[in-house]
Amino acid sequence: MAKRDYYEVLGVSKTATDDEIKKAYRKLAKKYHPDANPDNKKEAEAKFKEVNEAYENLSDPQKRKMYDQFGHDGPQGFGGFGGAGGPFGGQGGYYSYTTSGFDGFGDFGDLGDIFSSFFGGGRSSSKRKNGPRKGADLNLNMEISFEESYLGVEKELTITRNETCDVCHGSGAKPGTSVTKCSVCNGTGQVRQVQNTILGQVQTSRTCSNCHGTGEVIKEPCENCKGKGRVRKQPKVKVKIPAGIADNQTVVLRGEGEPGEKGGPKGDLYITIRIKRHRIYSRQGNNVLCDIPVTITQATLGAELEIPMVDSSKVKYKIPEGTQTGTKFTIKDKGFKILNSNNQGDFIFTVIVQTPKRLTKEQRELLVELAKTMNEQPPVKKKGLFF
Ligand SMILES: [Zn+2]
Ligand SMILES: [Zn+2]
Repeated sequence: MAKRDYYEVLGVSKTATDDEIKKAYRKLAKKYHPDANPDNKKEAEAKFKEVNEAYENLSDPQKRKMYDQFGHDGPQGFGGFGGAGGPFGGQGGYYSYTTSGFDGFGDFGDLGDIFSSFFGGGRSSSKRKNGPRKGADLNLNMEISFEESYLGVEKELTITRNETCDVCHGSGAKPGTSVTKCSVCNGTGQVRQVQNTILGQVQTSRTCSNCHGTGEVIKEPCENCKGKGRVRKQPKVKVKIPAGIADNQTVVLRGEGEPGEKGGPKGDLYITIRIKRHRIYSRQGNNVLCDIPVTITQATLGAELEIPMVDSSKVKYKIPEGTQTGTKFTIKDKGFKILNSNNQGDFIFTVIVQTPKRLTKEQRELLVELAKTMNEQPPVKKKGLFF
C-alpha cells in the first residue's frame, strides 16, 4: 500500500508551523486512540500508527527537512549516488541520502508513556535504557562554493565525536577486571512501579539509581576512558556532495555519528550544505541566472556574445538587432543538474545595456552625427518599463 503524504495524514499544509502540526496531531491522536474506538480497534490502531509516524517525522525539524526534500523514499531514491551509476561511482554503499528511517514511534512528548504502554512495550523505557541503542546523530554545516554546488565535489572534514574506547572496547571496565550485574535492579536497569492514569493502572518503571540504568556496575574503571567506554576523537570523514545540491539541503553519512550503546548501531552524520554567494551567478530553482553587460552598439546592431558558463566553458549566443536592456535569453540545459534525474535546468542571462560614460573625441563626433539622423526624444510610454 502506498504511504500517504505526512502532511495529508495530519491534514495540515506544507507550510504549517510546529504549533499547527502539534495541534493537528493531538486532535487526531485522541480521535484514533484505540481505547476510544472499541468497536473498530484494528482500523483505529492503524490510523493511530499512521498519525504517529507522520508526527514523528514532521515534528522533528531535521526529519521534516529530509522529508520535504526527499519524500518517503529517501534511501532508495538517492542510493544512486553511492552506487556505480552515480557521478561518484564505484564507492559502494558507504554513503547515502536518507531519512533516519521509521524505526518505531519516537517521542510522543508528554503523551508518550501512556501510549507506549498500550503498544506493549515496543519502546518501553526498560528496553530503551538497557538494550541496544542507536548512537546519537551529529549535525553540522558546511560551506561550499557556487561552482562546487554546480559540479559536485568531494570534501574531507574533521569532525569531533565519541568513539568506542580501544582499551576496554567500550565496556568501561579496566582490562582484566569484569563488569558485574547491578544487585539493586538485578541487571535490568529499571525498578518497576505501578501508576494510576486516566487509562487505568499502568505499570511503569524508573531508572535504577544505583547503576543509572545500565544494569551493570563497574568496579575498576578503564583508565583510558575513565569508565565511560568511549573517548573523544577527531576523525576525518569524506563527504561527497552531488552536482546540483541546493543551499540548505542535507547530506547524510550513515553510521558516521556517535557510537551506539550495548551493540546498537552508530548514529548518522547530517551535513547541511550552505552555498556561498557568487559574484556573477545566482540560482533560481534549477536555473542559473546571470547579467551580461553589452554596449549600446551591440544591443542596437545585434552581436554574437560569449557567455561564461558556471563550469568555465563558454557558449556563443547571438542577440538580435534592437535588443532592449533587461531582455532575458535562455541557453537550454546549462543550469543545475536535477538531483536524482538526468535532467538539467537552464542558463538564463539578462542583457544589461551599458551607456558609455566616457567617449573619445571621434566616438563623440560619430554619435553627434547619428543623433542628427534620429528623432527627438521618443514619446513617454504610460506604463513603460523604465518610466
Ligand atoms: Zn576504556
Ligand atoms: Zn541497577
